[in-house]
Amino acid sequence: AALGTAVALLAATAGCGSSDDAAAAAAPAKGTIGLAMPTKASSRWIADGDNMVKQFQLLGYGTDMQYADDDVDVQVKQIDEMIGAKVSALVVGAIDGTALKSVLGKAARADIPVIAYDRLIRDSGDVDYYATFDNFKVGVEQGTAIVDALKLTSTKKTFNLELFAGSPDDNNATFFFNGAMSVLTPYIKKGVLKVRSGETKFAEVATMRWDGAVAQKRMAALLAKNSDVDAVLSPYDGISRGILAAFAEAKADLPVITGQDAELESVKLIASGEQTETVYKDTRELAKVAVQMTDALLSDEKPMVNDTEQYDNGVKTVPTFLLQPVNVDKSNYQRVLVDGGYYTAAQIGA
Ligand code: BGC
Repeated sequence: AALGTAVALLAATAGCGSSDDAAAAAAPAKGTIGLAMPTKASSRWIADGDNMVKQFQLLGYGTDMQYADDDVDVQVKQIDEMIGAKVSALVVGAIDGTALKSVLGKAARADIPVIAYDRLIRDSGDVDYYATFDNFKVGVEQGTAIVDALKLTSTKKTFNLELFAGSPDDNNATFFFNGAMSVLTPYIKKGVLKVRSGETKFAEVATMRWDGAVAQKRMAALLAKNSDVDAVLSPYDGISRGILAAFAEAKADLPVITGQDAELESVKLIASGEQTETVYKDTRELAKVAVQMTDALLSDEKPMVNDTEQYDNGVKTVPTFLLQPVNVDKSNYQRVLVDGGYYTAAQIGA
């Protein structure tokens, strides 16, 4: 394997830009990996894809990466075309985790292994492995950030809270919500946190396709009824920014607000004190796990996993490697994100 890697590295660095190089890229020695990614609307997915392409190429694989613009039919078609082009394996960041059963059946018949990337693919027996972060823990971090920011363990005051969740067709969204509610529900029950809208069920607070504009609209409607909102559970930075825009528009005091992904725009808001926290998930690490899983599968080795219980997709429990998410706020973004090389200080500009 070490020799293979060295040869691949040579191939990747030799004669950059020559037309021979292009021919080599068209017929990579180890085959081509199909990377089906959901959207470029959020920077994390761009980083995920770029990191995987780099790492696969270093190992001697070619890549065919497609983004589907959050359109389920487009994603199905892209995967179908990758199968037609006889890719060696598929790595899929699903848009709708329940919509891929039929196309993955085709992949199985063509003997193409499938790795679910970040989001579980549901209702299909043709998913071999799953690489993701501990999704329940992401929610626990968000719930805990609200408890800490409002100092709920030491106060006698009560606070108004509103809840937002992610896309109902993304399996992760319920994990995030359930994780957060495992922390927040006891305070809601005690009356320390009041959800004045009464909307506390996942279905009532979900945000289709993680769309910040949809969340902004719902928040504006909530603020029109009650502008005194102390905290908002938000599952993702793009949704958080939509919610904050609704507060700005309503000229209401900014709330304690969570997020996820450490998107640059939101890290800037954390630095300036407008967003309270985000949950950082190092996409370089997730890409590494997915690439190693794929390479192991194609080398007839067993991919490494650390969870074989949590991710039942309705047909099978998919063996999973879980990475750990990290809570980031004003107190540690420098150390975690800048010292950790995810962003430069200049990018954040604080
Ligand atoms: C990912 C999150 C992301 C969200 C919206 C989820 O599946 O796990 O990291 O914030 O999708 O893109």
